[in-house]
Amino acid sequence: MFRLNRSAGRTPFLAAPFPSLAPPRTRNSRLKAHLGATLWAGLALLLPCSFDAEAKEQPTLSVLVTIDVETSSGCTKAEGCFPPPISDRILGEHEGVFYGTPLIMDLLEKRDMRGTFFVNAYLDSFYKEDEIRAVVEEIVQRGHSVQFHAHEEFRCFRYCKEEDAACRKSCLKNDSYLGGNSLDKQLKILEEGARNIERWSGTYPVAFRGGSWDADRVTLDALRILGIPLEFSLSGFEHKLADQFPVNRVTAQDGITEVPVYLYRQSTPFKFKPRYWDIESGTFLEHKALLQEALDSGLKTAVLVMHSFSFCRRDLGCPNQTNIDRFDRLLAFIDAHPMMQTITTDQFLSQYRQAPEKFEGSGYVPSASYFLVVYRSFVQFGESWKHATFICAHVFAVLIILVAIAYLVRRVYLK
Ligand SMILES: [Zn+2]
Repeated sequence: MFRLNRSAGRTPFLAAPFPSLAPPRTRNSRLKAHLGATLWAGLALLLPCSFDAEAKEQPTLSVLVTIDVETSSGCTKAEGCFPPPISDRILGEHEGVFYGTPLIMDLLEKRDMRGTFFVNAYLDSFYKEDEIRAVVEEIVQRGHSVQFHAHEEFRCFRYCKEEDAACRKSCLKNDSYLGGNSLDKQLKILEEGARNIERWSGTYPVAFRGGSWDADRVTLDALRILGIPLEFSLSGFEHKLADQFPVNRVTAQDGITEVPVYLYRQSTPFKFKPRYWDIESGTFLEHKALLQEALDSGLKTAVLVMHSFSFCRRDLGCPNQTNIDRFDRLLAFIDAHPMMQTITTDQFLSQYRQAPEKFEGSGYVPSASYFLVVYRSFVQFGESWKHATFICAHVFAVLIILVAIAYLVRRVYLK
């Protein structure tokens, strides 16, 4: 099976216990956390977003805004592979306006913030190098960090015609993959990618994120040999690195520091579903509540996931104003909060080497409140059948309860 960049990275995680460094959670403590999250959600709706920015002297929560810069390989069995142009999924060009990396940088820079752009290091297998270099150079010149993202499946375009799906399938199976591959092969693939990033950005990368989060223990060995100290692929309880590193806690081991994506549990009617922090999902109130919970529970580092196409929809194109507004409000919230700051991977690395305890944190995995999940479906009712079904099911359940109450009242009082 070919991996599609977006969908493959969004596999839902299954809930599984992990030996977190946070205090063990009993059923009662979990219920309390749930109630706490719900209470905070209610307050978040009532309270205006205002803090004294002057008081930002000792921020305790560092937020890394990370943007995966990539196009989809767009493969189907029937049609082969036709990646869209760079101007589409990376620059987000629509009617002369750029809603991709340029707008993401504009919004960050508006508040004197900078992000980390994880660029697919194998784009040169399909696109002209001058075109890639122009994108990367702009990011660097504007003061952002460029790091190493590996969609190594793109390497197959060197050997296969884009319409030849069978050739690509064979290439992916036999050669161009990381997780599960030998150290020699991973080293070859990763060194090639690291050198590409160095050539395009002018700086050898210090951080790595696997395409579709793909990375295993052997990848760590290869990164160590290649001198890339930061790993950003751990994104859930089921990840291949989750038995080696805790989620939600920056942890160093044998020369590699794992910086996990911020993970939380989302309440559903029957269970908590693990999700990672992505600008494309949730409402602003959910993001705000998650950040406050991170702060309250002793997390020190929170990694936000974005893509170069986060402000465009696959079906409707650019712009996706809802996502743009959500990101802008999130940055405003962090900017105004006295205990939060945004940093890039370069800043993170130099500060972490000085004082690792400032970034390690509790490893706690917070729970997003059920109330906010319902609220999200309510405000996004018309955007997908899932939201509409979720709300309709709740309305139906409330009606059933009301009818049942009315029936009981009638039986008791109107005998
Ligand atoms: Zn990716």
